[in-house]
Amino acid sequence: MGLVVQKYGGSSVADAEGIKRVAKRVIEAKKNGHQVVVVVSAMGDTTDELIDLAGEVSPVTSGREFDMLLTAGERISMALLAMAIKSLGHEAQSFTGSQAGVITDSVHNKARIIDVTPGRIQTALDEGNIAIVAGFQGVSQDKKDITTLGRGGSDTTAVALAAALNAEVCEIYTDVDGVFTADPRVVKKARKIDWISFEDMLELASSGSKVLLHRCVEYARRYNIPIHVRSSFSGLRGTWVSNQPQGDQPMEQALISGVAHDTSEAKITVVGVPDKPGEAAKIFRAIADAELNIDMVVQNVSAASTGLTDISFTLPKTDGRRAIEALERAKAGIGFDSLRYDDQIAKISLVGAGMKTNPGVTATFFEALSGAGVNIELISTSEIRISVVTRKDDVNEAVRAVHTAFGLDSESDEAVVYGGTGR
Ligand code: ASP
Ligand code: MG
Repeated sequence: MGLVVQKYGGSSVADAEGIKRVAKRVIEAKKNGHQVVVVVSAMGDTTDELIDLAGEVSPVTSGREFDMLLTAGERISMALLAMAIKSLGHEAQSFTGSQAGVITDSVHNKARIIDVTPGRIQTALDEGNIAIVAGFQGVSQDKKDITTLGRGGSDTTAVALAAALNAEVCEIYTDVDGVFTADPRVVKKARKIDWISFEDMLELASSGSKVLLHRCVEYARRYNIPIHVRSSFSGLRGTWVSNQPQGDQPMEQALISGVAHDTSEAKITVVGVPDKPGEAAKIFRAIADAELNIDMVVQNVSAASTGLTDISFTLPKTDGRRAIEALERAKAGIGFDSLRYDDQIAKISLVGAGMKTNPGVTATFFEALSGAGVNIELISTSEIRISVVTRKDDVNEAVRAVHTAFGLDSESDEAVVYGGTGR
């Protein structure tokens, strides 16, 4: 039997009961003959509460001290879980990210893992321990400062450790039974996906599906680590994310994997841009120099009478203010009339490798939206994805309509949300 990495999210370890339940499950895996490494998130909404607390003492909620603060959340859960396991008669040791050898760059609050040197973990395992690791954190290579990997980063910790330790599988335990064809909080009839390719999962993750982070899936694909997403509450078999289906997993990729939505973006429209070469380049250079990432871009047809056009793009709401400031600073050099900022938008995406070879997917998608009376503001596509921007108020209706139109609705109500406040 090989080594498994199990990761438990905040809602699975939200209280003492939850921690004891997780301890039993971890011991079960050990009893089945596995070496077990467990990655934990902070209990419940601890991370959000720490962020609120930081806001009460300082306007600066970022940087080195902020990372020091947030990593405390995961340290609480790792120690409590180790204690709970020991009290059930099994050996366990907990480790911070730094002790576990998670080495990152020095970008505080969104560090990237650049190396994993899990010597201490390996030793702990060899001595018969269950190793518990605090997720979402590491230590910077150059300054030896504590860093965090960005919100939801514990999944990435788990996959990175699984790769470094040559694990058989990385199990991600969450508060739903797996990856669903849509957010089960929005679509009651969402279906659990038994198997999904890394490619489709990456598109779902970058389109707003929150069950797995894009960076985590990217890492898993690079090192070819199969991920099993499942619930710590039900113990049911969940969703396998991997290169190739194995064993009794479905042999065929579904035509459409699912519908994702995202309400975390805003839209900026640059109004009255001269329609001549070099203008778009200047706009996006200003955005790039401010180190901001954009998502969708659309340029309108210019009105012949004025020779002016509008350019709209979307980006995370959290970057909205900085983008507006960067464009205002560059206004003289670019030469536009005004800026419009709109954060009442939503993005709805349909994802599936099958759309490459199936005509009519785009038509059905737009017909579903029109049937639901949803107006489309922007459109973008990739080979295996179609995304539209709509009004935020329309998002739930739009997701349900598209889900139904592609025959994704399940007969039974299998989409159970076991925990979490959705915060
Ligand atoms: N506790 C961190 C967060 O809430 C990391 C994680 O849960 O993965 O973002
Ligand atoms: Mg969390």
